[in-house]
Amino acid sequence: MAVYPFHWVPAGGARHASTDARPDGALAYPSGTGVRTLCGADLVADNSEVAWLWSTCADCNAAARRIADNAD
Ligand SMILES: [Zn+2]
Repeated sequence: MAVYPFHWVPAGGARHASTDARPDGALAYPSGTGVRTLCGADLVADNSEVAWLWSTCADCNAAARRIADNAD
């Protein structure tokens, strides 16, 4: 599986993607982590279970697909 240089992060009521580095060994940004999302917003990560059910940010989804297409 290819490793893409972005990570999904629930923040601000939607599931965004970010290229920010995660803390060492973390599988997700801990709640309270400030992240710059691919759609250009500065948000605070919410790693709660319900936050992962938020809908995907359309702008981040499009940007993530562009990154993934270029990573192969
Ligand atoms: Zn977004």
